[in-house]
Amino acid sequence: MNITELSNKILNGDRRALARAITLVESARPDHRTQAAELIDVLKNSGRQSIRIGLSGTPGVGKSTFIESFGMMLTGLDLRVAVLAVDPSSARSGGSILGDKTRMDRLSREPNAYIRPSPSQTHLGGVARRTREAVSLCEAAGFDVILIETVGVGQSETVVAEISDLFVLLLAPAGGDELQGVKRGIMEMADIILVNKADGDLKPAAMRTCSDYAGALRLLRKRPQDPAGFPKAMMVSALEEHGLQTVWDEMTELTNWRRGAGHFDGRRAQQARYWFEEEVRQGLLSLLQTPKAQASMFAASEAVSRGESTPSVAAQVVLRELQN
Ligand code: GDP
Repeated sequence: MNITELSNKILNGDRRALARAITLVESARPDHRTQAAELIDVLKNSGRQSIRIGLSGTPGVGKSTFIESFGMMLTGLDLRVAVLAVDPSSARSGGSILGDKTRMDRLSREPNAYIRPSPSQTHLGGVARRTREAVSLCEAAGFDVILIETVGVGQSETVVAEISDLFVLLLAPAGGDELQGVKRGIMEMADIILVNKADGDLKPAAMRTCSDYAGALRLLRKRPQDPAGFPKAMMVSALEEHGLQTVWDEMTELTNWRRGAGHFDGRRAQQARYWFEEEVRQGLLSLLQTPKAQASMFAASEAVSRGESTPSVAAQVVLRELQN
């Protein structure tokens, strides 16, 4: 594959070239990995900057409905929108949260939108790397907004937050007045909490939930990277398309403020550092997969199980062998 040609096509906004490039970064083949790294490197100076928005929420809160309505509103503003997903469940089920394009029927037919189903991978680290690279490809292709969706389970929010400029948590109206068991760590990551389904019979519950979360957010420590009033809880109806413009206005305000204060670039720099360290960690782990390392691990673990060696001494022996 000719990387220069592919990168030029991506810079010209060629969607088929973008799709081919994303397939390339998703591939685990070593020759593809080398080409993908070269491509990402060539494109890193495109001079284009999207707003990357991470969006998390448990199944059923209305993520795809929101992405469709919000995406349509953005394309209505003449903005180009890409939608990507980090799906930790796809490794197990073989399915994917964005695999079913009919979930975003209107948006998938919109010429200024690009929807990419999530890749199935064996581990979250692999999905994260590929999504991060897909994000930079979409950025080079000139998308103004990149929405990165994930289901709210475990570690995937952290991964998405480390790829995004803004992190949005989508919630449904709660029945009672208790917070919906959202972990504190996830609350702390959120820049905006959106209580969806604020329509019809659910509206009073949505208002209560929104004010509960607004109260909870006020108790969190104010972050230096935020202007007054953020992080913020707001209500929307993805179905009836209410509140979407206000959400975009708030996102724009936050982003402009952070750009002005240097926090936008600061966060990207810190993320680059994080991913560099993560790549080194993953690289070290992959050293354990070589046949020699596997044999050495096996022998040492047998010795440990027979009581001939202690876990720490055996580990030191293996690590020393790895360095040779
Ligand atoms: P996801 O699993 O988070 O992607 O959720 P979906 O977008 O598939 O939505 C789950 C269900 O909630 C569907 O039946 C939607 O029609 C419904 N839903 C989504 N957004 C809204 C909303 O704003 N108001 C109401 N009343 N229902 C909604």
